[in-house]
Amino acid sequence: MDIQAAVVETAGGAFRIETLRIDPPGGDQLLVRIVACGVCHTDMVMRDGAAPVPFPAVFGHEGAGVVESVGPGVIGLAPGDHVLISFDSCGMCPACHDHEPGYCPEFVPRNFLGTLAPDQGGLWRGAHRVGSNIFGQSAFATRALAHQRNVQKVDPDLPLHLLAPLGCGIQTGAGTVLATLKVRPGQSIAILGAGAVGLAAVMAAKISGANRIALLDRHTHRLDLGRELGATETATSLDMLAGPFDYIIDTTGVPALLGPAVGLLAGRGTLALAGVYPPDPKVPVDASAMMSMGRRIIGVVEGGIDPQRFIPELIDHYRAGRLPMEKLVRTYPFTEIEQAVLDSETGAVIKPVLLMEQSA
Ligand SMILES: [Zn+2]
Ligand SMILES: [Zn+2]
Repeated sequence: MDIQAAVVETAGGAFRIETLRIDPPGGDQLLVRIVACGVCHTDMVMRDGAAPVPFPAVFGHEGAGVVESVGPGVIGLAPGDHVLISFDSCGMCPACHDHEPGYCPEFVPRNFLGTLAPDQGGLWRGAHRVGSNIFGQSAFATRALAHQRNVQKVDPDLPLHLLAPLGCGIQTGAGTVLATLKVRPGQSIAILGAGAVGLAAVMAAKISGANRIALLDRHTHRLDLGRELGATETATSLDMLAGPFDYIIDTTGVPALLGPAVGLLAGRGTLALAGVYPPDPKVPVDASAMMSMGRRIIGVVEGGIDPQRFIPELIDHYRAGRLPMEKLVRTYPFTEIEQAVLDSETGAVIKPVLLMEQSA
């Protein structure tokens, strides 16, 4: 079947929409007609060649759509089902068994390399393969092949263009607060970075009953939105934040912020590293201060959650008005993907979402 897909030819190249051929779903795969796909910072990291990806490649990993057909190994999903697509994992390792698939040893091959099993379909340009199956989806396209394990069926009344980002950016911020750190009522938290991940953390901190929710960003319009979503104080530089905080979440990926951030931790406080960091970042920490007061630094991938358990929780919060996605999302026709990416990079838009059906 022919589809329209945004291909990046080489590292640093543009997203160019062209016609590719997609295989039928094999094994555990589902063919999904993509309705909407969020633009995530990691798409730009992959485009720039800063992650190991197979160029030319189709990125896009916050896909949402309608199942059109299923492979022979798929159970419990059928054509017509509405689904959100998240990252992929093996389902067999200790991390997957513990419902922490973000720490699956196969995270890199399944999400960045787009490795295909012999019975799984991919994308073709004439006789040549195009890098597909990125984050088990490659959803900057009118159709994508996802997997039994990385789709979540949702009620058909839900707005896919608002909920597509739950599958990466939103679950990362909210999961870090609610599932990994388990912030409790009355506690304090500082969130570094007011992009989609940081603002999802703000909304989750409010849900958890934190009494002090500090938000740091360079862009004041993002801080204004942060206050609307639940931040109790905002800052444009780290030295404006007054510790101590029970929790600090870094979503910026800026290593220079981390050493000073440790100095803002309360006793038994935790710094969660949830950003995308440059190669080999080194952070100086006061080992004695860490040890004597039981402070911790932890890494968090995708919020440390299992999407198939956590996305339904997020949908409950959305339905109850506690996750007002409409305040973060701006939609673009698929053909305007370059503009959507640019608006994300400049910080003008928190969460661009591409609408595929307009250009099918
Ligand atoms: Zn696994
Ligand atoms: Zn992402």
